[in-house]
Amino acid sequence: MVHTDSKASVPGIREMLARLISQPSISSASPDWDHSNEAVVRTLAEWLEALGFAIEILDVPGMPGKYNLVATLGSGPGGLVLSGHTDTVPFDDKRWHSDPFTLTEKGDRWYGLGTCDMKGFFPLAIEAAKAFIDQPLKQPLIILATADEESSMNGARALAEAGKPRARYAVIGEPTSLRPVRMHKGIMMERLAFEGQSGHSSNPDLGRNALEGMHEAMTELLALRGQWQEKYRNPAFKVQVPTLNLGCIHGGDNPNRICARCELHFDLRPLPGMDMDNLRQAILNRIQPLAERRQLALSFEPLFDGVPPFETPADAALVQACEKLTGHTAHAVAFATEAPWLQKLGLETLVMGPGSIDQAHQPDEYLELSQLQPTVDILRGLIRQFCIG
Ligand SMILES: [Zn+2]
Repeated sequence: MVHTDSKASVPGIREMLARLISQPSISSASPDWDHSNEAVVRTLAEWLEALGFAIEILDVPGMPGKYNLVATLGSGPGGLVLSGHTDTVPFDDKRWHSDPFTLTEKGDRWYGLGTCDMKGFFPLAIEAAKAFIDQPLKQPLIILATADEESSMNGARALAEAGKPRARYAVIGEPTSLRPVRMHKGIMMERLAFEGQSGHSSNPDLGRNALEGMHEAMTELLALRGQWQEKYRNPAFKVQVPTLNLGCIHGGDNPNRICARCELHFDLRPLPGMDMDNLRQAILNRIQPLAERRQLALSFEPLFDGVPPFETPADAALVQACEKLTGHTAHAVAFATEAPWLQKLGLETLVMGPGSIDQAHQPDEYLELSQLQPTVDILRGLIRQFCIG
C-alpha cells in the first residue's frame, strides 16, 4: 500500500516542526488556556498515512476535542512504540522574544512553544521511520501521540484502559538530552479537611476545634514521612528518599472563635516500589482515629489522580540497547511522564529524547540543532534492533 511518491509527500524535519508548532495545543486544567489537540493529531496522521502507516485516532473519553493517535507500520506480536505527547504547557507572552507559534531559527537553535517539550520528537521519529518504509518489518513500528500529558495525563490513562497500543517496547521522547531514563518518582497531591463545630473561645466544650485536629494530623503526617524515609531510599535519585510537603493550609476566621473548618493540601513524591493506594491507606489509618476521638468530620481525597512512580530494570533489553546506542548509563529524573501507563500495557518502557528539560516549560523554549541527527540515528538503531533484527 506504499505509494511510490510517499516519501516525497511528507515534508522535511524543519517544515514538519514548523507546522506542528503553528498549531496551538495547550492543555491546562484552566479552561481559559485549554485547546483541542485535534489539528496536531490530524497533521501527524496525514504524514504517517502517506508513509504507509495504518492510522487509528481515538477519543479520550469524557474530554471532548482531545485525541490519541496510534499509527502502525507492519505487524507482529512484538514491536516498538515511539511515543510523544501532542500538548504543550501555557506560555507567558511577555517573556518570549519571538512568536511562540512560529518556528524561529537563531544561532544553532530552533525556538518555539513545544520545540523541546515535545513536538520536536515527532518529525525526528517520522524521519527515522522513512528509512524503513520500503522494507518488510518483522515487528511493528508504532508512532503514538497522546493528549493532555501536561495536565491530566488522561490521554495515557485512556490508552491503558483501552489496551492500546500492543507492542513489546516503548520509548517516550521527552527531553532528556538523549540520555536514557529508566526511573522517576510518582506525584500525588492530596487534600485533607476537618469539619468541627464553632463556639466561643472562652469555653472549649462549646465546640470542636478543626485547627487543633489538623495540628495533630500534621504531626502524624510528618511522623509517617519519617518512617517512609527510613524505609525507602534509592541512590539513583538526587533526592534519595520519598518526600512529603505540607503545601498550604486554610482554616478558621477569628482568634476568639473555635475553628470549625480546616483544610490542608500536601504533595507526596513516592519512589519506585511504593504503591499509591497503600500510601493513601496508611495516611487514612493514622488520621481516622484522631478525627473520631475529636469528633471531627474527615474528608481525604486526591486533588488529581496522580502519577505512579516508574522503574524499568537496569538489565532490560531496551535499557541495554539505549545505553549502547547513546554511550550513557540510564539514570533517574525528577519529572514524571506517561511511562507508568505504557508499562501497564505490558510495554518495556524508557524515556529518552532530544532537547533539555531545562528548556521545557520556559519562555524562549528551544531545541538545539545538534540534537537532530543524533536523535534520528539512535531511533533508527532502535527500529533496526526491535522491528527488523
Ligand atoms: Zn513533556
